[in-house]
Amino acid sequence: CGIIGCAGDDGDMVPTLLNGLAKLEYRGYDSTGLAVSGSDIRVVKREGDLDELVGTVDSEFDRGGAAGIGHTRWSTHGKPSDENAHPHTDCAGRVAVVHNGIIENYQLLRDELQSLGHEFESETDTEVVPHLIGHYLDTGLARKDAFRRAVEKLDGSYALAAVFDDHDEVMATKKDSSLVLGVGDGTYVASDVTALVGHTDTVVHLHDGEFAFLTEDGYTIVDESGTPQSKTGTEIEWDA
Ligand code: GLU
Repeated sequence: CGIIGCAGDDGDMVPTLLNGLAKLEYRGYDSTGLAVSGSDIRVVKREGDLDELVGTVDSEFDRGGAAGIGHTRWSTHGKPSDENAHPHTDCAGRVAVVHNGIIENYQLLRDELQSLGHEFESETDTEVVPHLIGHYLDTGLARKDAFRRAVEKLDGSYALAAVFDDHDEVMATKKDSSLVLGVGDGTYVASDVTALVGHTDTVVHLHDGEFAFLTEDGYTIVDESGTPQSKTGTEIEWDA
């Protein structure tokens, strides 16, 4: 339902993600979660109100981190539960993914991945995405290529954002679901400009099939074939 992602932001990652999720609450949701990169990826997720997540983060989670993603889930596949909340990870915990939308061919992909030995922890359509990325990492592809190759296999509608272990970058892409990018103290991606209030005055809308790679220094966008795109930002008129 709602996505926020951030690279950089001066070690203020967790507050930035929680603040972004608070701004996405109005869209409605049944669960929330976040993941922050590091030598391992740290994930916290909870069914229920954002307050549940905030309580968990306060007691269990202290990490600045250099790349992070957050999600408010409105479940379509799998009941609202802690396990079904996003982010979802691959078996080895090398990648964490948040998703808005529906992966139409998830059952087929899940069957294929299970026959390759992948074990699933949720009932969601989304969980095939980190497992697919993990599969392509296993075949020796670099992170960006593994992400792009996994997305090529998906049918349906999606806005996706991912973080990796040992890697300070957020990757994002979309089809029939919205994502915007912005630069301020850090570099941001969100499903909705509302989540970027206070961080930036200019946003760039990602188009279907484009991929964005965010680091603390800014973002690059490539099209489906990997060709870099230069895009002009749109100034945001905030209502007070
Ligand atoms: N289809 C996904 C799920 O059920 C994502 C739902 C959403 O857009 O929040 O987990």
